Amino acid sequence: MAISRWALLLVLLIFPFGAFALEPIEVDGRESGDKLTGQSEVWHDPDDSQPLASIVEAYRDGEFGPLLSAGSTGLKKGAFWSHFALRNVTDSPVTLSIEYVDHQLIELSVFQREPGAASGYRPLINLSMNKPFDHRRISHNRFVFPVSLEPRQTREFLVRFSSDGAGFVFPSMRIWNPDTLRSNHTLETGSIAFLFGGFFLMSIFALVGGIATGSRTFYAYSVYALAKIIGWATILGYTHQYLIREDFHWRYMSISGAVTILCGLIFARIFLQTRRYTAKLDYVLLLMMANAGVLLISGLFAIKVLALVTITIALLLYPVTTVVGIVRWRQGSGEAAVFALAWSLLMIGLVVQAFRDLGYVEHNFINYYWPPFSSFTEMLTIMAAIGIKVRRLRQQKLVAEKQYREHLEQSRSELQQLVWARTRELEAAKRLAEVEASTDPLTGIRNRRSFFADAGLYLKLAQRKHQPISLLMFDIDHFKSINDNYGHSVGDEALRSFTRTIFEKTRETDIFGRLGGEEFGLLIAEDAQNARHTAERLRDCIAAIELEAAGCNLQFTSSIGIASWQPGISMETLLKHADRALYEAKRRGRNQVVEYQPETAAVEL
Ligand code: GH3
Ligand code: MG
Ligand code: MG
Repeated sequence: MAISRWALLLVLLIFPFGAFALEPIEVDGRESGDKLTGQSEVWHDPDDSQPLASIVEAYRDGEFGPLLSAGSTGLKKGAFWSHFALRNVTDSPVTLSIEYVDHQLIELSVFQREPGAASGYRPLINLSMNKPFDHRRISHNRFVFPVSLEPRQTREFLVRFSSDGAGFVFPSMRIWNPDTLRSNHTLETGSIAFLFGGFFLMSIFALVGGIATGSRTFYAYSVYALAKIIGWATILGYTHQYLIREDFHWRYMSISGAVTILCGLIFARIFLQTRRYTAKLDYVLLLMMANAGVLLISGLFAIKVLALVTITIALLLYPVTTVVGIVRWRQGSGEAAVFALAWSLLMIGLVVQAFRDLGYVEHNFINYYWPPFSSFTEMLTIMAAIGIKVRRLRQQKLVAEKQYREHLEQSRSELQQLVWARTRELEAAKRLAEVEASTDPLTGIRNRRSFFADAGLYLKLAQRKHQPISLLMFDIDHFKSINDNYGHSVGDEALRSFTRTIFEKTRETDIFGRLGGEEFGLLIAEDAQNARHTAERLRDCIAAIELEAAGCNLQFTSSIGIASWQPGISMETLLKHADRALYEAKRRGRNQVVEYQPETAAVEL
């Protein structure tokens, strides 16, 4: 700087009367940012090494020319110089604020002089991002410097815009009435604060969502929203203004930008489940993360060129994330479409800013604030996408639960039917077993056990109703000889026809059973007299049976013993009595009915 001053002095000695090529900008102190400085006379110093004297010389030689692009010089190495003049058209002194329109410049040096004055350019102000914030005479997140003009005075200015290596320069600064700028800045800061509040709330809600659901998507979103606050606050100059006032460095912008990009990519990978569903595109996302990592490193080590290259790559690759969203949408993920839309909004914002930075379009309020606002709408839209995802997962869960319940219900009814079928089988088997247990297999009538069981009940019933009961006991005569003469099967047939005959000739309510071998019992509700008649009738029927055996008719007879129930006697006793009578019938020559007589021995009828 000292050398520059000496050079300046030298120049002023040689060319005491400088001139400016263009008409000065007329000001009256009521400017509200509409008038711009310096677009017409701009000069590029590629090495950012020329002393002021050389600049003044270059200006005098007519090397300053109009800015060929719109607003910005585009990405260029070195420094840019701009020349302009202001003329106070009023009769009172005027103070103005000149505002540099962007937040990315590293250093701004302003020199001024009065045309025609003996002295040359004197340094007016030097603003640097790397200096403590308090060195700024006007507190603003962008570079702003004050200019004073006496009544009717004209002043000339030379401004050096340095990017410390390479960068974008907007030589077209805005001219403001200081109060208007201040109130405008308050409004702007308020809007940004509102935006950051929104990011913060979204981050908190997502954190709560993460804690409530345990979903990684929510946590990633929460961190992403926080990273956005840090990123935008640092890039737009608020971190320097409010947090790191002393030792701010441009690399903090790269670092916070890198962190935001990394968080965004991590979130995108988790939300879209790229590793699982789009493995190839996931590699591209990983590559983008690696690039953001390099940006982080270049920020940490203040390698400006690398930082510029990696941030450019990062911005160029941004559309990939939208493509991944679209691919996932095509794969059937509805929320991925909303994500792609959200990311597109951000991308459009960045493209719009890139167009402005590269000098294709004029700087204006919309393209300056589009990126942070589109970043905000991106977050809001992603919130909606998360909502859609949560709803879809919930519906999937409900469907799965319903299917599970239906399956359970079906298994239960199948099991029930199986149990019913088994129960019916068991009941049938039990009934069969009972029938088998109580039935004589040869004749199909009650066996001995079943006969006594039913006879016992029958006896009790008859006792209660005071009905008479008689037991008839049959024994086929000379049955052994049937077996012996005609064979066992004929004997069996004889037993079956005997049974059939008794069954047909007695009542359904009578208790008839096989007591063993060729012995049968019949319990009837008759007194002794009627029982005798029945026995005689049955004896005749038996004698009338004819069996076909060995080509001739076989006939057989049966002896019958009768015992009638008397009050006080048991079933066993009744049986014993009938047996005694039967024995008597046999003794008397067979084929006859004998009734048990208690007093005497058995009596023949
Ligand atoms: P009685 O006139 O004295 O009664 O002479 P019986 O031959 O009838 O008497 P016994 O008690 O000596 O003979 C009974 C025979 O009945 C003996 C046995 O082989 C035969 N028997 C017993 N159960 C069956 C059977 O289920 N089928 C056949 N075919 N014969 C049987
Ligand atoms: Mg016998
Ligand atoms: Mg016999």
